[in-house]
Amino acid sequence: MARMPGAVWHSVRNFTADGQDEVRGVVVHIMAGSLEGSQAWFDNPTAQASSHFGTGKAGALRQWVDTADRAWAQSAGNRTWLSVENEGQGGDVLTDAQLDRNAQVLAWAHKKYGVPLRLATGPSDRGLGYHAMGGSEWGGHASCPGARIVAQLPEVVARAKRLVAGPTQEEDPMAGITKTDIFNAVWKTDGIAAPSDAADLKTNPTWQALSVLRDTQARVRSMDKRLTGQAAAITALAKLVGKGVDTATVVAAVTAAIESAVIDVNINTEG
Ligand SMILES: [Zn+2]
Repeated sequence: MARMPGAVWHSVRNFTADGQDEVRGVVVHIMAGSLEGSQAWFDNPTAQASSHFGTGKAGALRQWVDTADRAWAQSAGNRTWLSVENEGQGGDVLTDAQLDRNAQVLAWAHKKYGVPLRLATGPSDRGLGYHAMGGSEWGGHASCPGARIVAQLPEVVARAKRLVAGPTQEEDPMAGITKTDIFNAVWKTDGIAAPSDAADLKTNPTWQALSVLRDTQARVRSMDKRLTGQAAAITALAKLVGKGVDTATVVAAVTAAIESAVIDVNINTEG
C-alpha cells in the first residue's frame, strides 16, 4: 500500500485491489473535464475508469487509487504504469501548478519505485509517459493528453529532477565578486552603481557585502586625512621652533598646513 505524501487522499470505487504488478513509470492524461467531475466518474462503477492521481488547474493534487492497486486509465498499461489525470480539455496546456504536481508525482515514483527521471519512449520503456504512446493496446487514445501537453513533458522531468536534488545550497554572498569589484568598491566610491531599488540593498547579500566594504573605505579615508593633517601640523611646528614667533602665528601656520594637506588627500583619493 502506498499513498503519496502531499496528495489529498480520496478513495474511489473503480480499481483492482493489489493489481499493480510493477511501476515502470507515470502516464500523463487529460481529463476532458473537471477534477470534481472525474472524481465522481471514477467513483461510479458503470464508468469502469479511474486513475491513481488527479490534478486541478489551480494546483490541487488528489490520490484516488492506492499505488498497490491497479487504476483503470490506460487498458493494457494499467498493470505496469501509474496514472495522472489532469483537469482540462483536449488541446489545453498544463498550468504551471499542474506541471509542479506532475513533477511531484514523478519525483515520488522515482523515490518509491526507482522510476527514472526521463521521458519514456514507449510502453516497454520506463520513465514519464503519456496515454497516446501506448497506441491501440492502451485503448487508442491518440489525443490524450494532446501534442501541446506532450511538448511540456520535458519540463515536468526537469522539475522532478530539481525536486529530487533538493533545495540548492544558499548562495555564498561573495560568490561572483571579483578582485576588481573589491578594488572598485574600496577605492572608487562611485565605481559600482548602487541598485535603484533601495529594498534590494537590504535583501541582496552581494550588496550587503559591498556596503561593508564601502563603509570601511570611508573610515580608511577619514583616518588618512587625520594622519596627513597631523603630520603637516608637526612639520609646521618644527619649522617654527626657536624662531620666537607669537601664538597667533603658530595657530595660523598649523591651520594652513592642515587645510592644505587635507585638500591634497581629497584630490588624490577622489580623482
Ligand atoms: Zn488518457
